[in-house]
Amino acid sequence: SLGAASQEQDTSRDAAGLRSMSSVTIPPPACMLRPLEAPLRYLFGPGPSNVPPRVLAAGGRPIIGHLHPEMYEIMNDIKKGIQYAFQTENNMTISMSGSGHAAMECAVFNTVEPGESVLVAINGIWGERVAEIAERMGANVHRMVKTPGGYFTNKEIEQAMQKHKPVLFFLTHGESSAGLCHPIDGIGDICRKHDCLFLVDTVASLGAAPIFMDKQNIDILYTGSQKALNAPPGTAPISFNDRACHKMFNRKTKPVSYLFDMTHLSNYWGCDGKPARAYHHTGPVSGFFALRESLAILAERVKRYTSTFSVILQKKYTDLRLPSVTTIAIPKGYDWREMLAYIMKHHQMEMTGGLGPSIGMVMRIGLMGYNCEKSNADMALHALADALKNCRKSKA
Ligand SMILES: *Cc1c(COP(=O)(O)O)cnc(C)c1O
Repeated sequence: SLGAASQEQDTSRDAAGLRSMSSVTIPPPACMLRPLEAPLRYLFGPGPSNVPPRVLAAGGRPIIGHLHPEMYEIMNDIKKGIQYAFQTENNMTISMSGSGHAAMECAVFNTVEPGESVLVAINGIWGERVAEIAERMGANVHRMVKTPGGYFTNKEIEQAMQKHKPVLFFLTHGESSAGLCHPIDGIGDICRKHDCLFLVDTVASLGAAPIFMDKQNIDILYTGSQKALNAPPGTAPISFNDRACHKMFNRKTKPVSYLFDMTHLSNYWGCDGKPARAYHHTGPVSGFFALRESLAILAERVKRYTSTFSVILQKKYTDLRLPSVTTIAIPKGYDWREMLAYIMKHHQMEMTGGLGPSIGMVMRIGLMGYNCEKSNADMALHALADALKNCRKSKA
């Protein structure tokens, strides 16, 4: 009968269900059956920094759809917040769905075509990273190299530009591996004179050292969320001026990345003048909530632009100090790894060693945005003094 047939079907479906259950050969991992543990730490390294409760709360709000009109409003607010933070009127101002590296790749991928000449100033790790990114997409990369903490004169930059005729020149404003804040004035004008785009990385410096995108003739500027902006990692503001837009929207080849293609991203962020925004990718909704809140805090307050810490520390590693990340010479006779481990263990405080070319040369202490308080500087100094007292000192 019909009833019997359907019953038979049901049992066979059950059997199939059982079979698929019994085929789970990897048991649930024990760690997944324990609650999440994330300790409270003082994040006094070069990032991420501690996130203020207000920003955490914004990120913890119930999410909405990435294509809901309310989300577009929030994205429009973020755009205005970035324009303020960058001091720019550029319409082409968005946040990447990704960390600072996403902005680095977006800038290079969209404005450079394979075979074109790119000039990169390297005085720490970040220039080297951008040089590699540009090489990977087939650019003809020219490096200007200084030891970490060194800086480039405008004359040196202009000479290299005359020689290599780049379409793009990259400079790091806040070199967080070297603790240097590079002078910017005049370089944008040199780039214009030589028909070259000026790309500046302010991941470690935005909100800690002044930058004026429009006034300083910077063509492309980006930052990250998790340093002086004190938002969680995972979003990265970026802005392109008309010169940069002209170059990137008149290319012969498509950018190598679909995810970072500005023709799509400009539509997603409502910057392309089209009435409708189309689905391109799902933006990090919670990350955007938090980023909006951190930009709101920046807009509300006139931030202190100097770090108390840089002033207190005596051992100078460079003259153009980056306020947000202070590099200190490793005290003679001490093992920096042991000191950092001691400070983490006994003070729940992150400080870091060098990065890239500055490894073994310095320790790095970052007091960024919300963390930049005298009480925190005192606490960091106390932890350092304690480490000096209790870590091994070699006789040599
Ligand atoms: C941290 C940092 C980056 C990279 O940012 P991520 O968010 O880690 O990808 C780039 N440039 C500078 C100067 C930085 O300090």
